[in-house]
Amino acid sequence: MIINADKPEVSIVVPLYNEQENFMELTQRLKTVCSGLPFSTEVVLIDDGSKDQTPFLMYELGLSDKLFSCVFLSRNHGHQLAVTAGISSASASKAIFIIDGDLQDPPELINEFYAKLNEGNDVVFGVRKKRKESVNKVFLYWIYYRILRYISNVDVQIDSGDFSMISRRMADYMILMPEKSRYLRGMRSWIGFKQVGLEYERQARFAGEPKYTFKKLFELAYNGIFNFSDFPVKFITKVGGFTMAFSFLYIIYTVIKKYYFGGVPQGFTSLVIFIMLFTGIQLIALGILGEYITRIYIQVQNRPLFIIDKKIINGKIV
Ligand code: UDP
Ligand code: MG
Repeated sequence: MIINADKPEVSIVVPLYNEQENFMELTQRLKTVCSGLPFSTEVVLIDDGSKDQTPFLMYELGLSDKLFSCVFLSRNHGHQLAVTAGISSASASKAIFIIDGDLQDPPELINEFYAKLNEGNDVVFGVRKKRKESVNKVFLYWIYYRILRYISNVDVQIDSGDFSMISRRMADYMILMPEKSRYLRGMRSWIGFKQVGLEYERQARFAGEPKYTFKKLFELAYNGIFNFSDFPVKFITKVGGFTMAFSFLYIIYTVIKKYYFGGVPQGFTSLVIFIMLFTGIQLIALGILGEYITRIYIQVQNRPLFIIDKKIINGKIV
């Protein structure tokens, strides 16, 4: 492979949304890590429309230290799109290392990731050995990944997030995928090639509150399911079939009761139960269809994935 001498070998992509409390520690650690590596690196920081001091801190750093490239998005586009913007702006010739800005993913592991990538893998994904998060969240994650794995059409890796190193060609294929509601770890699996996990202990957030609200987490979880599985829509057909079969039996029962046993004006309770139950089932079915239709709607609008306000590359605003 011909490697362009101007380009770093590895880009480290870090999305930031209101991370002023972590900024100094994060960038200091990145600097230390990068200075001790046997290969060349760049750091791509993405400001995802932060409302705190993050963009100003990035400005200062980007203009004074060429190790850091900065991408400023026009507003908060969400983590998945911020990472996508970072991958699109990364110039590395060999690999892209994706980490969170709250130091939950130790940047010091870059060497181990790169070594594994160089064993002929296109993705090295971090596998969480232990989560230092609330019991509820850990349980929800645990169950979600197992359901997703069971119902999805692709081989989604259990207990792995976006913390990963991907090869240049994997990054190029991800950029080529035009889907708007992005679920990067699913896209990674869909693309294929050789992928391998690397166990690590996920740290607690260095400072500040999580920036993934419950709403954003649910959106992400939904994207995982509806972008990579037709299970929900097939499931409604099955529920429909089951309901039909049950209705036939119940019709036979009702008719026999009417003609042979009489005393028909009865059954108010069962009537209410069936109306409520099947209204519920129908509304859920509509909702499931709606999820797929919304995705079609968002896709046909054909808007750009994100809007970049400005960039700082090599100490210059572009
Ligand atoms: N983030 C972002 N945009 C958002 C939400 C989060 O760029 O809308 C960034 C955030 O600054 C952090 C990373 O995504 O660097 C992961 O977010 P967080 O730590 O809140 O997620 P969690 O660790 O809870 O999954
Ligand atoms: Mg975090």
